[in-house]
Amino acid sequence: MKPLPCPICRKAVDWETNPHRPFCSNRCRTLDLGAWASESYRVPEAPEDEDGEGWSEENP
Ligand SMILES: [Zn+2]
Repeated sequence: MKPLPCPICRKAVDWETNPHRPFCSNRCRTLDLGAWASESYRVPEAPEDEDGEGWSEENP
């Protein structure tokens, strides 16, 4: 199985032997959890206002 990059530091992770996968180490896993906790990883909710191109009022 080919190694995949750690989502935190991009270091190659051996998925067969690394218990911290998909992270390369417990440190990166902790960092990721910390990112979730601080909500910096949170997917921002798209404001519905931005998707009004179809029927927006246009002046000729
Ligand atoms: Zn890492």
